[in-house]
Amino acid sequence: MKIYDIAILGGGAAGLSLALHLSRSPLRDLSIIVIDREEKKSNDRTWCFWTRRPSLYAPVLHRSWNRLRFVSDHVERKLTIDPYRYNMLRGADFYRFAHSRLAQNPNVELMLGRVEGVEDGAAEASVRIEGERLRARWVFDSRFPPPDYQPEPKRYSYLVQHFLGWEVETDAAAFDPEAATLFDLRTEQQGGLCFFYILPSDERHALVEYTVFSPQSWPQALYERGLCAYLEGTLGLQEYKVVGTEQGAIPMTNHPFKRRLGRRIMAVGTAGGMVKPSTGYAFARIQRDSRSIVRSLLRHGHPFALPATRARYRQYDALLLDVMQRHPQLVKPIFTALFTRNPAARTLRFLDESSSLLEDAMLLNTLPSGPFLEAFWDLNVMQRQGQ
Ligand SMILES: Cc1cc2nc3c(=O)[nH]c(=O)nc-3n(C[C@H](O)[C@H](O)[C@H](O)COP(=O)(O)OP(=O)(O)OC[C@H]3O[C@@H](n4cnc5c(N)ncnc54)[C@H](O)[C@@H]3O)c2cc1C
Repeated sequence: MKIYDIAILGGGAAGLSLALHLSRSPLRDLSIIVIDREEKKSNDRTWCFWTRRPSLYAPVLHRSWNRLRFVSDHVERKLTIDPYRYNMLRGADFYRFAHSRLAQNPNVELMLGRVEGVEDGAAEASVRIEGERLRARWVFDSRFPPPDYQPEPKRYSYLVQHFLGWEVETDAAAFDPEAATLFDLRTEQQGGLCFFYILPSDERHALVEYTVFSPQSWPQALYERGLCAYLEGTLGLQEYKVVGTEQGAIPMTNHPFKRRLGRRIMAVGTAGGMVKPSTGYAFARIQRDSRSIVRSLLRHGHPFALPATRARYRQYDALLLDVMQRHPQLVKPIFTALFTRNPAARTLRFLDESSSLLEDAMLLNTLPSGPFLEAFWDLNVMQRQGQ
């Protein structure tokens, strides 16, 4: 049985990103196998993420903007986000790019198969794939949910970011290609934060998503009705064609996902807690995490020496999720204040967990304080008293 240096379970965003970062590092000579149950050729999702530096994926970005639009009942802001850019990467382009780059490294194998289990060991772990077995010195597992995942609703918040997106084509110019609309909140708020998100390719083509942060996903007809009402009512489009769709549900939770699943096994991606609990963004965090794993392997000979998330961001996420869960009607004013009463770059740094304490204080000062104080009291005082 061949023993690999590294086996990566799941060749999605986290698995392929890690393989790419390893292949670009001094560890490129390690033998690596990436196993996925699918061929990963379809355009199954679109990733957006903001960056200050040129992205590894620059050659295949579908669009990149330096402006974001925020719209609510009586406000519309077009925010310049320098020094950031907001990037759109289509799933199919990411998979093609990653597969072709990895094919240039003879030490990387891609395998099609369903992983059935992993057993830890002192020097290696063993992976079962449809009756076959392989061994590896390090296993990175991106299957979700992770093996011993048990939600604890008394201690943590569990919401979902769920959405249906339509790729819309119009005859006449209908979209502003110079800015992506991060939030258009002009819709009824039904049991959570409800908004529209627009990624325009040009004046006649855009991906328009009806997105909700709430405890449960919705029946299909509700998203479809919302999209029709928005396109025809709010945007006033007379004629449009739906030429593609995107649908998804992203867990938004402060549940503490374990990184170390064994002596030789590490969780990555959503399974490793890479989704930012209060926003659902994960792609940029996955890139940073991949770089940290490579750095840890190089410096320490193991992948587990990773930078810890700063405690204050965990606390902000917990507070925001708690407010979303218990006071959904207050989330719209909070997001409106976040994007209209702060410079965009400050907000993006805050959401990216790279802001200074002073910036956090300035930003938090712009938000309605009542719901946060209540959430803070519940999370820190009541829980400690076991109530
Ligand atoms: C529709 C959608 C849109 C999103 N948009 C954004 C965005 O714009 N920006 C952002 O930052 N984040 C976004 N996210 C969140 C996050 O970035 C993605 O979910 C991301 O794909 C997570 O990476 P991952 O590797 O953990 O999971 P995935 O990319 O889902 O990869 C997991 C892989 O494991 C494989 N797999 C699972 N079980 C097995 C098994 N038993 N055997 C073999 N293979 C297996 C799957 O086939 C899959 O390829 C989005 C999520 C979704 C669902």
